[in-house]
Amino acid sequence: MRKLLITFLVLMLSSSSYCAPVFEIVPLGVNGGLRDGNLSAYLVKTLDSENYTALDGGSLVRGLEVAFAKQSLHDKNVDELLQKHIPAYLISHAHLDHLMGLVMAQPELREKQTIIARTETMQALLKNVFNWSVWGNFGDDGEIPRLNYQHYQSIPLLQWIAVPNTNLDVKVFPLSHAGMASSAFLIRYKTDYVLYFGDTGADSVEKSINMENIWNEVAPLIRNKQLHAIMLECSFLNSQPEDKLFGHLNPKLFMAELRQLAAIVNPSDFKNSLRGLPVIVTHIKPRLIDFSNSNEDTGKRVINELSLGNDIGVTLIKPEQGIMLSL
Ligand SMILES: [Zn+2]
Ligand SMILES: [Zn+2]
Repeated sequence: MRKLLITFLVLMLSSSSYCAPVFEIVPLGVNGGLRDGNLSAYLVKTLDSENYTALDGGSLVRGLEVAFAKQSLHDKNVDELLQKHIPAYLISHAHLDHLMGLVMAQPELREKQTIIARTETMQALLKNVFNWSVWGNFGDDGEIPRLNYQHYQSIPLLQWIAVPNTNLDVKVFPLSHAGMASSAFLIRYKTDYVLYFGDTGADSVEKSINMENIWNEVAPLIRNKQLHAIMLECSFLNSQPEDKLFGHLNPKLFMAELRQLAAIVNPSDFKNSLRGLPVIVTHIKPRLIDFSNSNEDTGKRVINELSLGNDIGVTLIKPEQGIMLSL
């Protein structure tokens, strides 16, 4: 027990000593695919702000219920939060596991919340989802937009934009997700940053330099201890064949990408250049076998494979639905 407690304290110290916390992140849904109710969605705000920005919206109301029950929302109830304190939703790409919760809640949102995405993603949402065929359209653009409950805002790549009604700015970076357009969001508050990735393949697999471009952008922030966390997907186990990754990462590719970053941050000491950096592992895809074989837990196995490959000492964090992180 005592040993456990000490281990826990060391973990707490090592993650919080990286830099003094500025951001609160509340995971509303942490998984990719398969099981509904716990799909990619995170709230982020600064410690002193009342308003959150949503990063994706795979699970929304369900995630808020769980977070409320776990007292991660400063006692604000689901209705209050949805109407007043989540003025903006950043959507990384138009896949359902990043979108369903927001779509289901959309008819109830009344405070002209802003739904933000890069142009390709916004076009996909307006053409294929909010079209009165798959779902209604309650916003101010697209097919018969008469209700105007929400504002759709397409934003350009690689430019800083203020997130409406929050104290945060965002810069969108393109990602390649099996060739499809996806996004990473660099979130800024004054001189502090968090980096969130939507679904992405590795540069080596996607034949792209999208990840490398992002690493070049954030390397100076890491040198100055201004980047508080990276939220990066790791969908599959290492046993997933490369031709069945469908634009995702496995632990080997995840760590290879972070090693690339480490080498840019400090080429002469890459083994230590990311030491202690909090890396939140998102979008693990559970498998059906987890339900039939009690020894199987894909989430635990992915974290285990990541830990074994973590020769650069990043602080790996497995987020839990509704449990707030201060970073
Ligand atoms: Zn996904
Ligand atoms: Zn996807």
